Amino acid sequence: MAAAAAPSKPLALKVPLTVKELAEKIYVSPGELIKHLLGMRVLATINQLLTEEPVEKLLKIYGYQYERMQTLEEKIEAGHEEEDSSKLKPRPPVVTFMGHVDHGKTSLLDAIRQTRVVEGEAGGITQHIGAYRVMLPKGTIAFLDTPGHEAFTAMRARGANVTDIVVLVVAADDGIMPQTEEALDHAKAAEATIVVALNKMDKPSANPERVKKQLMEHGLMSEEWGGKTIVVPVSAKTGAGIDQLLEAILLEAEVLELKADSTRTARGVVLEGKLTKGGGPVAHVMVQNGTLRVGDAVVSGTVWGKVRAMLDARGHRLEEAGPSTPVELLGLGGVPKAGDTFLTAPDERQAREIATARQEKFRESKEPVRRAVTLEEFHQQMEAGKLKSLNLILKADVQGSAEALRGSLEKLPTDRASLKFLHVAVGAVNESDILLAEASSAVVIGFNVQMTPEAEVLAKEERVDVRLYRIIYEAVNDITAALEGLLEPKLIEQSLGRAKVLQVFRVTKVGAVAGCQVIKGKILRNAHARVWRGQEKLHQGKVDTLKRFKDDVKEVTEGIQCGLSVSGFNDYQPDDVIEAFEVQQIAQKL
Ligand code: GDP
Repeated sequence: MAAAAAPSKPLALKVPLTVKELAEKIYVSPGELIKHLLGMRVLATINQLLTEEPVEKLLKIYGYQYERMQTLEEKIEAGHEEEDSSKLKPRPPVVTFMGHVDHGKTSLLDAIRQTRVVEGEAGGITQHIGAYRVMLPKGTIAFLDTPGHEAFTAMRARGANVTDIVVLVVAADDGIMPQTEEALDHAKAAEATIVVALNKMDKPSANPERVKKQLMEHGLMSEEWGGKTIVVPVSAKTGAGIDQLLEAILLEAEVLELKADSTRTARGVVLEGKLTKGGGPVAHVMVQNGTLRVGDAVVSGTVWGKVRAMLDARGHRLEEAGPSTPVELLGLGGVPKAGDTFLTAPDERQAREIATARQEKFRESKEPVRRAVTLEEFHQQMEAGKLKSLNLILKADVQGSAEALRGSLEKLPTDRASLKFLHVAVGAVNESDILLAEASSAVVIGFNVQMTPEAEVLAKEERVDVRLYRIIYEAVNDITAALEGLLEPKLIEQSLGRAKVLQVFRVTKVGAVAGCQVIKGKILRNAHARVWRGQEKLHQGKVDTLKRFKDDVKEVTEGIQCGLSVSGFNDYQPDDVIEAFEVQQIAQKL
């Protein structure tokens, strides 16, 4: 009877593994597996590493169903995700101040820090850790004291959502200004709760009613006018209203029902990583869930270590730090990246194993994890259920043209996908637009405007799709096509290198392998490749095998000899040239 007809037993395996290891797992002889592999046109030795595909096929022959074994990282992450609702307790809110420059963000944070009881004791903060906690009779609040929406959205672009409540600072004498609008849209895009602080109320020119009207025009209806937004008049200068502001924050926190389980192991976010004067790495972290303790093994990105010491905002040592506690952490082996998460692992060995596995992964995939989306990719991502709406950021030369473009776009049929305008404003496409686009998977449309040089660099780095138009209907056409999935991706080729064939080896059952010397650039395994004979292009495929002596390698550079084969091609001759290249999708720029 055919083995495949029997019900298949699931078998979890860590791949790649060698023929010998697989044979031991399923109690057959390695020779038998090698024979099956030959049947699949794979020439293997007993120590050959097998990838998922042949393993899956082999297992099927013996009535097993292949299951990928969870990596240690996945296992530990899954553990951190499990939740015991009976152990959840309210946690302090994490608050960020945003607003237009000079409206008083820093002064308000200072006023709160100086006049309130900080971590159970009055007095200044000696250490700067980018965050501190304020304890009040009614509860505790954690403040991120890197105010501003750029820092906030930069963190979000890295996947970290630290802030629960945004305090939008508006000077009562000045009203809503361009950066207030920007901050507001960034906070909304993050779906953060917004509390408005009407600052500088001590000034005779303060006009709170005018600002409330402006806020309403921007979709924030104050509570006294029947809306949901708490608007608190304050003065950083006199201290008036600060108590009410803190109370409003605690009230909103209650509504949000922020909870965490302090009995579990910790996870959180890196706020900042740097080297001390002495050269040791320190990380400023925010514990988000669980309790971090001295002696815990932690891993963040590709950095790992053991918590040697923890300091609070005043430089006092802490033995443990619970949810919503910012601490300075000593003991990591390197400098972690701001916005990366950190996790506690059961022990240092496992922390190291996760960090090393991540390093490997980063090395293998040159592609960084990308959150941004291009117009071309939108439809596909929507079909895959990853995106619900096409998020747009519109920048134009004047208000009139911004509104005209928005108006035309809003008229597009939205039965298949909807458009969401995250930020519509006047001015050049700036860095904060790019950050917002990245953090919220949005596309930036510029109409009759340029990009600032910094924005251009950032957009290129993060591969954010920015399209600059001079004619409205062209923009409308492109967006229409994107919504319908009719926009063809533009591809560009990037040459990697060339290798010249010196000698051809024939390997039974495998085919031909070209012994080459790299004459320019480098050859990468899995890169696209063309085979040239003189001026004639013979074939196009992918770099299948890439070997230095007997070892498989990922990369061979100029001047070095290697053995290589291109998928689907067997007919190499000395002096053929193999050209390796990459294909990248690029954003159309007009
Ligand atoms: P930021 O750019 O938003 O951080 O604003 P700052 O906190 O640096 O404040 C800008 C200026 O406004 C400073 O000169 C402050 O002294 C002043 N300022 C801040 N808050 C108040 C206030 O409540 N009343 C008055 N009269 N001035 C204030």
